[in-house]
Amino acid sequence: MGKKKQRIETTCVQGGYHPGNGEPRQIPIIQSTTFKYNTGADMGKLFDLEASGYFYTRLQNPTNDAVAAKICELEGGTAAMLTSSGQAANFYAVFNIANCGDHVVSLSAIYGGTFNLFSVTMKKMGIDFTFLSPDCTDEELESAFRPNTKAVFGETIANPALRVLDIERFAKAAHKHGVPLIVDNTFATPVNCRPIEWGADIVTHSTTKYMDGHGAGVGGCIVDSGKFDWTKYPDRFPGLCTPDESYHGVTYTERFGLGGAFITKATAQLMRDFGSIQSPQNAFLLNLGLESLHVRMARHCENGQAVAEYLSSDDRISFVTYCGLPTDRDHALAQKYLPNGSCGVVSFGVKGGRAAAEKFMSNLKLAAIETHVADARTCCLHPASTTHRQMSDAELIAAGVSPDLIRLSCGLENKEDLIDDIKQALDAL
Ligand SMILES: *Cc1c(COP(=O)(O)O)cnc(C)c1O
Repeated sequence: MGKKKQRIETTCVQGGYHPGNGEPRQIPIIQSTTFKYNTGADMGKLFDLEASGYFYTRLQNPTNDAVAAKICELEGGTAAMLTSSGQAANFYAVFNIANCGDHVVSLSAIYGGTFNLFSVTMKKMGIDFTFLSPDCTDEELESAFRPNTKAVFGETIANPALRVLDIERFAKAAHKHGVPLIVDNTFATPVNCRPIEWGADIVTHSTTKYMDGHGAGVGGCIVDSGKFDWTKYPDRFPGLCTPDESYHGVTYTERFGLGGAFITKATAQLMRDFGSIQSPQNAFLLNLGLESLHVRMARHCENGQAVAEYLSSDDRISFVTYCGLPTDRDHALAQKYLPNGSCGVVSFGVKGGRAAAEKFMSNLKLAAIETHVADARTCCLHPASTTHRQMSDAELIAAGVSPDLIRLSCGLENKEDLIDDIKQALDAL
């Protein structure tokens, strides 16, 4: 194809791994903890980060690297790494630049697990978070920043609130204050949105969701855009701009440049010390998912749109949240950032409150009740009776989860069958 930019569908299928003459067509699973060298000096160069190569799978593995390289290409980044889960990806992405005594600005409409990670566990580590509503005013946004703020964090499409992030707005605010914007792009996937093109600096993923797409393996990924200039703020980001005494005095920005510093530091320090690696076997499964990501996302979106449209036409439904609906409060943002579709997750309420929602869910035949989203099989969850069951109705409403809210993740089945299933579940109420 010469110099012409390759389209994303082709990268989904062929990116990351380019076998040579007579090599395996499919990415080999390098199921080996370690790698053999002829001399101690050969291996010493790797430890000093003077030569690139493999020595221990906790730090790097060829299967994982090939899959990370594909995701890096899909997002338009300069470097990427796989992690054992989305939780590990978000933890590493933030902890790589924010330490004890630091502060981070985060959107409040984020995944519950990430909210806990930030507000409980990382708080115990001495990192303070300010949570902002997606509807915050410019004044509120401006006053959230402190001298010790190190990053801004948000999700392209928030799980489960389904709010769409105004990436340009939050990127501008972050950059004005000399900090990067980290975007969790799990629900949109790079097929539907590439946050780096809108100003995001670091992109994270729970690959457990659409990227894997089959509910087969838990995993995560971090991608660096290479665009944030840490060296402009050496006092704010000493971990990237001054020698790392725990790694032979290497200064990451000097040795690896803006394109490689963030991911090399996260690998050499955080993966070395915390060890949340993705197994090569899971990376192989993840790559099988990536090969059809573009085909699957289109169907997830088609089904999500059809189900959302049906639900909004049925007067037994109290509300529908789906940014593909013209009536949705984030529809304009979706048209800008997600012109080809958002995702297959729709949330809605059944008239009759908590009891009706529970009954409706148990009436469903195709949609299975699961604590999961974003795979090939349609599944649903009633937070008020499961993940949020300890909360009173008043507390649920304060958390943005109404007692009758159902989160439905539309899979890859026939959309008419999904709608028929919903209809029969409503009829049987
Ligand atoms: C599921 C999810 C996570 C956590 O990922 P795991 O792979 O379950 O650790 C993080 N962010 C978002 C948006 C998610 O949906």
